[in-house]
Amino acid sequence: MLGLMQSQQLLISSLIDFAERHHGEGEIVSRRVEGDIHRCTYRDIAKRSRKVANALAGLHLAFGDRVATLAWNGYRHLELYFGVSGSGQVLHTLNPRLHPDQVVWIANHSEDQVLCFDMTFLPIVKAVHARCTTIKHYIALCDADQLPADTGIPGLQSYEAWIAKQPESFTWPEFDENSASSMCYTSGTTGNPKAALYSHRSTILHAWAGAMPDALNMSARDSVLPVVPMFHVNAWGLPYSAAMTGAKMVFPGPAMDGKSIYDLIENEKVTFAAGVPTVWQMLLGHMQQGSLRFSTLKRTVIGGSACPPAMITSFNDLYGVEVLHAWGMTEMSPLGTVCTLKNKHAGMDSTQKMAVRMKQGRGIYGVDMKIVDESGAELPWDGKAFGDLLVKGPWVIKEYYKGEGGSPLVNGWFPTGDVATIDPDGYMQITDRSKDVIKSGGEWISSIDVENIAMAHPAVAMAACVGMKHPKWDERPIVVVVKKPGAEVSRQELLAFFDGKTAKWQIPDDVVFVDAIPLGATGKMQKTKLRETLKDYQLPTL
Ligand code: AMP
Repeated sequence: MLGLMQSQQLLISSLIDFAERHHGEGEIVSRRVEGDIHRCTYRDIAKRSRKVANALAGLHLAFGDRVATLAWNGYRHLELYFGVSGSGQVLHTLNPRLHPDQVVWIANHSEDQVLCFDMTFLPIVKAVHARCTTIKHYIALCDADQLPADTGIPGLQSYEAWIAKQPESFTWPEFDENSASSMCYTSGTTGNPKAALYSHRSTILHAWAGAMPDALNMSARDSVLPVVPMFHVNAWGLPYSAAMTGAKMVFPGPAMDGKSIYDLIENEKVTFAAGVPTVWQMLLGHMQQGSLRFSTLKRTVIGGSACPPAMITSFNDLYGVEVLHAWGMTEMSPLGTVCTLKNKHAGMDSTQKMAVRMKQGRGIYGVDMKIVDESGAELPWDGKAFGDLLVKGPWVIKEYYKGEGGSPLVNGWFPTGDVATIDPDGYMQITDRSKDVIKSGGEWISSIDVENIAMAHPAVAMAACVGMKHPKWDERPIVVVVKKPGAEVSRQELLAFFDGKTAKWQIPDDVVFVDAIPLGATGKMQKTKLRETLKDYQLPTL
């Protein structure tokens, strides 16, 4: 017998309809490429998204055609999020931090038809447009009078001119909720990039679960600052969760430096901010220099790479801001786990709580996890056994776009490429990427543990632990370190700092000081590149 409830399709257009009706006055604040602060409301975004839909209809695209963006976090990008997906086209957020050749490869692979870009990225578009064989329409996200003459880009028009003449009314089409809504190419894989293709259904369910109290805890009382870019896994779904809850949104545009972010947090009374550790490092540095305080910020979600415990402590102890350590990946839309405490932790002292907070967190409803050994046998949730982390759920990838790489699933589970433990309370802790694990004398050493200890030293800005071939132990860890500006620490001092913090055999054999550690297009340390730069390195004979 079937249930007798309505079966309304879960479509992205419903989010902006809801926000307009219930939170029409809700504010959307953006620092623009133009340099100023722009203010509008959900009502304005809804109206302009419908204008986008009408403008797209005028381009006579087919259902499911890709409309690409090369854009910072801002209100126009938000309008495209709703306007493009809402009309049945697929929003393809290109990552402007990629090399232009990669942008060309990706745009051709996804067969983008339209490219909407911030003026900051005009040089990239100039460099690539002749090689992007499928793009027929170029839209610059600016006013008509800011469009430079003679760009050489065929048919280039300004976004404002493009939507100005369009009517404000548009009836969003109804279609199957499993239709594709947006796509994002992952940077985490080797070989050519592969795309995760999200559906309306996966996006709505993900946004719903992400907004819940034990996940990001979003509400109409929040002022939300996504520093995490809208070009990387849809800014962790925040634009959707915000519309679903009516939260105020604050967009940083291109300015990610500590001062700009701090000013936005204070001026816009931000209560919740989301970003990767490198961004928060800059913010904390700025605050420490100026002895600044937060007046409204309550919590921050940190993910994308392991959040050093020293950062959790700084936010918590110095500034009274709760850190939600979170883990996920492009293939997971991205949210997998968020670290929030349970009722049983309430009475614990801060050291015991910290031991929990350092972990990547508990699976949110909808994400099922398991860890397995090399033979695929499931390992216990005892907080000690570690193995390959596998996940499944309605917002986890089934297959890459165009079937690239074949089926990634193992008996219905997606192998994340991360190595982790899970404790009896369900808290998962990543020990490594499977390709980064260090095996020394038959024992595993977690590069993340080594990095976390190094990062706790006051003179260390960034640390990367890599394994080096060793004649006796197979591999030994070394730690590559960038010092904070003006700070000093010697190799001996830093190695001594590890004493008592980890087993002796897990202490790195050497410290290599560098000016910078290579970062990828999504702010993650690129250990493969780092290893290349260290190819002539010799371990010291101890
Ligand atoms: P991406 O698809 O580019 O978002 O990268 C996903 C990968 O980033 C994951 O598979 C992890 O290796 C890493 N990652 C994300 N969040 C965390 C975290 N909180 N701690 C450690 N690694 C993380």
